[in-house]
Amino acid sequence: MKKQFAVIGLGRFGISVSTELYKLGHDVLAIDINESKVNEIVNDSTHSAVGDGTDEKTMRSLGITNFDHVIVAIGDDIQASTLCTLLLKEMGIDSVWVKAQNYYHHKVLDKIGADKIIHPEHDMGNRIAQHLVSEKVIDYIELSDDFSIVEIAAPRSMDNHTLMDLNIRAQFGITILGIKRGKDINISPMADDKIFENDVLIVIGHKNDLKRFEDSN
Ligand code: ATP
Ligand code: ATP
Ligand code: CA
Repeated sequence: MKKQFAVIGLGRFGISVSTELYKLGHDVLAIDINESKVNEIVNDSTHSAVGDGTDEKTMRSLGITNFDHVIVAIGDDIQASTLCTLLLKEMGIDSVWVKAQNYYHHKVLDKIGADKIIHPEHDMGNRIAQHLVSEKVIDYIELSDDFSIVEIAAPRSMDNHTLMDLNIRAQFGITILGIKRGKDINISPMADDKIFENDVLIVIGHKNDLKRFEDSN
């Protein structure tokens, strides 16, 4: 289903969000105060416009209230980012996601009703660190301080065994959400599904349990 997104602020983060949403087939309105940024996105967005995200009249004239989701990706100018978020929430936009610059910015955004606050540098840094310490971890999503989802190469010792044989929940306290084999993916595998050596497992669990699972060969 096609969705309507507006992205305000076209730094590296905003450009990358806009371009990917557009590639995925959604409608994207890309806005920046700087004309040269807007020119960069013309071919990778449905509409693009020069405008100040902190100016209510401009935002209304761009039809911002018709969008289901707005992403505020104004970077260094914390004041502009905050004011823009406040305006969008006051105008009644349901889903406003905002890129935060630091902890104080995060706290204010939270107070004024930002629906999701993103720390791309922090999160990507975490992921890269996970990659660096474990050759097996392919990708990583932090759900909370304690729980994550990881994509991990199947331990060799599990080759040609079913989930039941391995008794994974009891042994490790984790759940396998999916098994990737080449281009195929088996979502929510059954107890009698097998794991093979070159599979990639998508696993959810407590960090300590996931670590134990990674360390088993
Ligand atoms: P990134 O790290 O994603 O490259 P950044 O955090 O360095 O971005 P900036 O380059 O400071 O962020 O800002 C992102 C964009 O937001 C810039 O292109 C800037 O022109 C735009 N911007 C700044 N203020 C406003 C505003 N009031 N309205 C709309 N766009 C704005
Ligand atoms: P459970 O309460 O652990 O699900 P169960 O008696 O309902 O056990 P099954 O669901 O058939 O039995 O699973 C048998 C065993 O296979 C479980 O003990 C579990 O360790 C393992 N298993 C099945 N599915 C998964 C999965 N998606 N991820 C991890 N282990 C699984
Ligand atoms: Ca930056």
